[in-house]
Amino acid sequence: MPKAQETVLEIDLKALKHNFDFLKSKLKDNTKFLAVVKAFAYGSDASEIAKYLQNLNVDYFAVAYINEGITLRNAGITKPILVLHPQAVNFKKLIDFCLEPSIYNTKILNEFIEIAIEEKQTNYPIHMKFNTGLNRLGFAENDVNYVTKKLKNTKTIKVKSIFSHLAASEDLNEKTFTLNQIESFKNIAQNFTNTMGYKPMLHICNTSGILNFPEAQFDMVRSGIGLYGFGNSDKENKHLKPIASLKTVISQIHNIEKGESVGYNRAFKSDSFLKTATLPIGHADGIGRQYGNGKGFVTIKGQKAPILGNICMDMIMVNITNIECKEGDEVIIFDSNTTAEDLAKTVNTISYEIITAISQRVKRIYLK
Ligand SMILES: *Cc1c(COP(=O)(O)O)cnc(C)c1O
Repeated sequence: MPKAQETVLEIDLKALKHNFDFLKSKLKDNTKFLAVVKAFAYGSDASEIAKYLQNLNVDYFAVAYINEGITLRNAGITKPILVLHPQAVNFKKLIDFCLEPSIYNTKILNEFIEIAIEEKQTNYPIHMKFNTGLNRLGFAENDVNYVTKKLKNTKTIKVKSIFSHLAASEDLNEKTFTLNQIESFKNIAQNFTNTMGYKPMLHICNTSGILNFPEAQFDMVRSGIGLYGFGNSDKENKHLKPIASLKTVISQIHNIEKGESVGYNRAFKSDSFLKTATLPIGHADGIGRQYGNGKGFVTIKGQKAPILGNICMDMIMVNITNIECKEGDEVIIFDSNTTAEDLAKTVNTISYEIITAISQRVKRIYLK
């Protein structure tokens, strides 16, 4: 790989294939794989990632919002796309682009039926979301009777799947809670199937669910973070490769004398001579201010350079006093050695947050 000459997010498609193959190897033969590509495929690039996974024959995609699904259709994605959190205002567009809504409460069910009728649809595929303990989105377990009554009265829509979401699949201390969620999901599915007389696909596992609860794979699993190389535990991370590396360069080096300050608000004051490097990446690129003032760090020539003072919109300054380096040298923010998770931990957050924060201003390049 040529050295970075500006701020770039390098996306390694071979690593993506590796993660996909690894996760698939955990599935039973007939379990379908849904790739979650919401939020720009967790901060990388939804269209490129989805096109690549479509060629690998993934079964399904999911996004959070309708506009994300439209972007995928415009990029040539023809596989089914589940929209996890649609808003009624965009339902006509959802139908125009053959996206499949998650239906999570009565209001959204009624609104969708109304628009599907206006659009003269029959058997339009929908996915019924049930709440089994996350308390975020979804019908309650005892809504099944009401919902099935409603569904029996219309030919406009057809339930393609029933799904739920685990609250703590990564946390084995919460195993009992998770097993209860799975049990209540089974009851919902059974009750639904008995009443409707057909069995939709069932799915409940996210990445950690795939790895920790193989008995709960049902007909499909939904994986996001695992595809991008993180598995919520060191044990899993060994088998996964982070697909994205964030790199930049040194724009300028300064010698800072004892008593001088660095950056806005003079937040860093030096009590000895030191050397700083200014980098062309800032909070507008997704490195939040919480990483400033010594919490976060970058890697230059294999050595850690802590962030000095406040993070600016377009720049950060790092301490390179003990690092042999010059202007124009490459800087690693995160890669497969110093991972996004390592950086996230310095401010008590999770890999999901830092990778999805990398702004669209940062150029994406692909390793094929
Ligand atoms: C984001 C999301 C996923 C993916 O979870 P990962 O932990 O990234 O694998 C799966 N299902 C739902 C409903 C989600 O919102």
